[in-house]
Amino acid sequence: MSEPGTSPSSPLSARVLGLAQLGLIVIDANLHIVMWNQWMASRSGRSAQRVTGQDLFDLYGELRGHRLEQAVLSALQSNLPQQLSPTLNPSPFPLYPAGSWGGERVEQQVSVTPFNEGKERYCLIEVSDISTIVGRERQLRSQAEQLRAQSYVDGLTGIANRRHFDVALDRELRRAIRNEGQLSLLLMDIDSFKAYNDHFGHQQGDACLTLVAEAFAASLQRPADLAARYGGEEFGAVLPDTSGEQAALVAETIRARIASLNLKHSPAATRPHVTMSIGVATFDKDHLADAAAMLAAADSCLYAAKKAGRDCVIVYQHQQENAA
Ligand code: GH3
Ligand code: MG
Ligand code: MG
Repeated sequence: MSEPGTSPSSPLSARVLGLAQLGLIVIDANLHIVMWNQWMASRSGRSAQRVTGQDLFDLYGELRGHRLEQAVLSALQSNLPQQLSPTLNPSPFPLYPAGSWGGERVEQQVSVTPFNEGKERYCLIEVSDISTIVGRERQLRSQAEQLRAQSYVDGLTGIANRRHFDVALDRELRRAIRNEGQLSLLLMDIDSFKAYNDHFGHQQGDACLTLVAEAFAASLQRPADLAARYGGEEFGAVLPDTSGEQAALVAETIRARIASLNLKHSPAATRPHVTMSIGVATFDKDHLADAAAMLAAADSCLYAAKKAGRDCVIVYQHQQENAA
């Protein structure tokens, strides 16, 4: 008498095969199906009785020439197991969730294991449903993308992005109002950058933007200072506890540092090397008391710096309405 579970035809083995939560197919050396478990039957819509004795690749003509056929032939020949990459072969068999009709194919992980029984060689094909794992991976990837979109880092240059800049300016402005402290703001823009792109191409333009951003960020000394990409080829700095005079010095340091990078510019540009124009504005509770007013003031200075010939710094000065 054979031990329970050791004989393939024992009732216990048959019951286990019926309960298995993965597809089990056995084919012989002629590719004829000799075993097809319940999991396969309920997801393929084909009973074991119907498929037994059939050539697997006659049954599924679409698998001829497929990586699965190569894996089976190679396993039978070499007697070595084969694994199909689920990324390259996501759903080789037309299998659908048990109880459904049509819809999305089950995502599958397939492995092929040859074995010998007496003089005969067989091949066990195991099919696992990895739809849940794949779905969860997709969800995680899309969440990661969403988080990146909401993050505070500029994707190209790696420095703070516009969102971070806005949050920092708002926070530092409240602090300056609360503590009657000082706060300055720099807005800067690369000179003749359209000409740079036109001359060197957009890709080199991106590389240039990154070098400028790194040099700009490295120019800021204090931990509370924030260097951000404001948009396109424009950058911004939030400088807490910094007066107008101090901010003008910081701006001049940045301007000089960018010029000293000596990045070759387009012949159409004002200078032979890449330069930046900078506008500076400082919090003033009577005249520049909110973010919009400070930004508008820094922007008007930036515009003035462009008009003044570029590669220079202009500091916002409040005009006395009844000045003599
Ligand atoms: P100005 O000295 O007056 O600032 O001239 P400009 O050519 O820099 O100004 P304009 O606003 O006409 O052009 C800005 C250019 O910056 C246009 C755009 O192609 C380029 N630019 C903006 N964002 C990016 C970017 O992310 N990568 C690259 N390569 N170029 C960018
Ligand atoms: Mg611009
Ligand atoms: Mg520009």
